[in-house]
Amino acid sequence: MFKALLLTQPAPRETHAECVEIDESRLPEGTVRVAVSHSTLNYKDALAITGRSPVVRQFPMVPGIDFAGTVIDSEDERFRPGDAVLLNGWGVGETHWGGLAQQARVNGDWLIRRPEAFSAQDVMAIGTAGYTAMLCVMALQDRGVAPADGPVLVTGANGGVGSIAVALLARLGFEVHASTGRPEQAAHLQALGAAQIVERGSLDAPGKPLQKERWAAAVDSVGSHTLANVCASVRYGGCVAACGLAQGMDLPATVAPFILRGVSLLGIDSVYAPVQRRERAWQRLAQELPREVLQRNTEVAGLADVVALAPRLLAGQVRGRVVVDTAR
Ligand code: NAP
Repeated sequence: MFKALLLTQPAPRETHAECVEIDESRLPEGTVRVAVSHSTLNYKDALAITGRSPVVRQFPMVPGIDFAGTVIDSEDERFRPGDAVLLNGWGVGETHWGGLAQQARVNGDWLIRRPEAFSAQDVMAIGTAGYTAMLCVMALQDRGVAPADGPVLVTGANGGVGSIAVALLARLGFEVHASTGRPEQAAHLQALGAAQIVERGSLDAPGKPLQKERWAAAVDSVGSHTLANVCASVRYGGCVAACGLAQGMDLPATVAPFILRGVSLLGIDSVYAPVQRRERAWQRLAQELPREVLQRNTEVAGLADVVALAPRLLAGQVRGRVVVDTAR
């Protein structure tokens, strides 16, 4: 038996979340069984646990789009008992039982080896949010964006993606402007490397199609009017890596920034990103993300705490990252 957070649907569009004991025989099909020591709470997990959005495709479901742990047994010759592994995405926690449990069984193709530089807790302090922040940074760099081009904006800066993006960009020498609705957290953002704080309120309402050119590039985890205003304020030839929808899924924008300023909008997906790109992102995180960021930016919770934390995260009340220690 192992402990897991289980989501059920007592009535249509109603989600019930409860920490329960589950027998190993109920684990889904897969080639590798993992003893999960740590998982995490991402925005998408919070949507699944609260039922706020139809993230979960079948019930009952163990949520958790990320996990880290050690292999218990494997039919996949690439993995042996005792190997340290991690998983991000691939529909785990949505269509296949996920990481908010003490055990998981998954397809070996979805696993990557945990970089030696990191503990299991470290990789979950990064999680899909931090790995996505790195994918955003890589997308900007692939377009040639460099510190000499000018300041780079990060929206949703106190969130999981935003906080790690601030730290990564600052470490690379960029002048980082951090947009937040929580100016009281300015000192935290400055400690992560932000040079300037931008009030969320200056970006989240309808704005003009073209605005003053302020940033060379941006990482946006917010969407909606914020993303539209960011595109309208990026300098000629700049680009925006868009990965999130914390404000909304809509994009009430015009084509003006794209056709008059040559701005590029780069879509970022972490869930089905090719293995090679994931491994590159994790290698770079191991080399470039300062360790103190993980301590400064992380709170640790137990499986049973997650149900109460999920609505707080959606309300923008959680700062940085939440690691879930499955032994707690
Ligand atoms: P998170 O920790 O909850 O952070 C979201 C942040 O957005 C909040 O901390 C808040 O930052 C800001 N925010 C919240 N509500 C807002 C609103 N109404 N208007 C403007 N800003 C708002 O979530 P996360 O894990 O970082 O994820 C962020 C987004 O990226 C989510 O939409 C998630 O689904 C998406 N995501 C996508 C991928 C992908 O593969 N594309 C991967 C990971 C995450 P401040 O308090 O600083 O303003």
